[in-house]
Amino acid sequence: MDGERMYSLIEKLNFVRVSGTEEEQKAAEIIKAECESFSLEAAIDPFATQDGEVSETVLEVTAPYRKQYAAKAYRRSACFEGEAEVLYAEDGLEVNLIGVKDKIILLNNPVGKKNYEQLLKAAPAAVITGDGDLLDREEDSDLIRGMLRPVITDGFEGRLCAVGVRKKDLFEMIVKGASAMRLKVVSRDFENTSRNVTAFIKGSKYPDEIISFTGHMDSTEFSHGCYDNAAGSAALMELARYYTQNPPFRSMRFIWTGSEERGLLGSKHFVAENADEVKNTRLNINCDLAGSPAGHEFAIVTGPKELTAHIDMLMKEAGFAVETRTDTYSSDCIPFADAGVPAVSIGRFGAHGMSYIHSRNDVIDYVCPSALQKTAEVAFLFTERMDKAAAMPFERKIPDDIKKKVDEYLMKKGV
Ligand SMILES: [Zn+2]
Repeated sequence: MDGERMYSLIEKLNFVRVSGTEEEQKAAEIIKAECESFSLEAAIDPFATQDGEVSETVLEVTAPYRKQYAAKAYRRSACFEGEAEVLYAEDGLEVNLIGVKDKIILLNNPVGKKNYEQLLKAAPAAVITGDGDLLDREEDSDLIRGMLRPVITDGFEGRLCAVGVRKKDLFEMIVKGASAMRLKVVSRDFENTSRNVTAFIKGSKYPDEIISFTGHMDSTEFSHGCYDNAAGSAALMELARYYTQNPPFRSMRFIWTGSEERGLLGSKHFVAENADEVKNTRLNINCDLAGSPAGHEFAIVTGPKELTAHIDMLMKEAGFAVETRTDTYSSDCIPFADAGVPAVSIGRFGAHGMSYIHSRNDVIDYVCPSALQKTAEVAFLFTERMDKAAAMPFERKIPDDIKKKVDEYLMKKGV
C-alpha cells in the first residue's frame, strides 16, 4: 500500500464529479486507465438515472418588505409562477400544515422522504427550505440545491414545488415576518446517464467465492470530494493493484461507483443487474472517507457480530487503532447488505472541525499521504486475512436487528 501513489490518484481526480455529468465520465475514464496501467482490464458500466434541471428560480418577498433572495429550486421540483401568501410552518407538523393550501410555506428542514407525503397532501403552492448554516458567509459558501429524488416522489400523484435558500435568508424571512412572496421556478425532469467502473480478478483457489469492493468516485455539487471519496477510490485502487500482481485465492470484484451521492445508485444498479454474482459474493468491503490528517480509522460491520469481534481482535493484534462496531453506514455497503451480503465499511473519520464533506471545503489540502496509507493498510490487512482464510470466519447472514436498520435506512414500506 502506497499513500503517495494514492495521493497522486486524488490529484488526478481533483475536480467536481457530480452524478450524470461529463466530469463523472472523466473520473471513470481516469480510473479505468489507472487499472489498465497495471494490466487490470476494467469496464465502464453506464446506467440510467432520473435527473432534473432547474433553469430559473426567482424569489422575492413582497410584503411587509421587498427583497429578492438568492434561491435554487430542488432538482425535479414542480414549476411555479405567481405571488402567494407566506406562512412559517416550522418543522411542518400536522398543526403547522393546517390551512397552508396554495400558500408558500417556510420550513426549518429540507424536504425528504419522511415529510414529502404530508407536505404534498397539505398542497402548499411551494415550500421554502434553508440550506447550510446561519453563520455561512456568501463569499465562502455555496447554496446547495436539494433534489426530489424518484425514491421520494415515486408513487405519488403531482409534484411539490420546493426551493432552497440560505439559512441566514430564511432566518431573516422568519424574523421579519415575510407574508407575501413572488416566486418563479422553471424546472424539468430528464433521464440522465451515470456509470460505474468495474474490474474482476479471478480467484486461484476458491474462484466461486467472491469478495466485492466498493468505493464511490462521484462527488456532490461544488465539492472536489477528495476526502469523500477520491480517497476511498484510491484505497480500492491499491488493493486492485496488489491483487492483480499477487493473485488472490478468492475472486475479487472491484466497483468504483457513480451516483452514490444521489442515493447509492451505482451500487444499487450493480446489485440489481448482477444477481447471480451477488449470490456468490461472500463479503463486501466498502471504502468511503479516507486521508484526513486528523482523525481515526473505523471498520463498521453491516453484518454478523462475530465479524465485528474478529476485526476488532485482528486490528488490536496488528497494533492498528480502529473504531469497530456493528451498524449501518450511509454508503454503498447498504445495497449489498440488503441483498444478504455482510459488508464492512473501512475508512478514516476526519476529526470534527478539521474535515469537511459535501461542500467546497472538501479539498486536497485536507488530505495527506500518510493518513491515506493508514486506511489502505487496515483494508489490506482485513482483505488479506479474509482472502486467505481456509473458511470465512463468519456466516453469510445479516442479523435481524441490522437487517431492520438497513430496512429503516432504505425506508422500506411496512417498517
Ligand atoms: Zn462518501
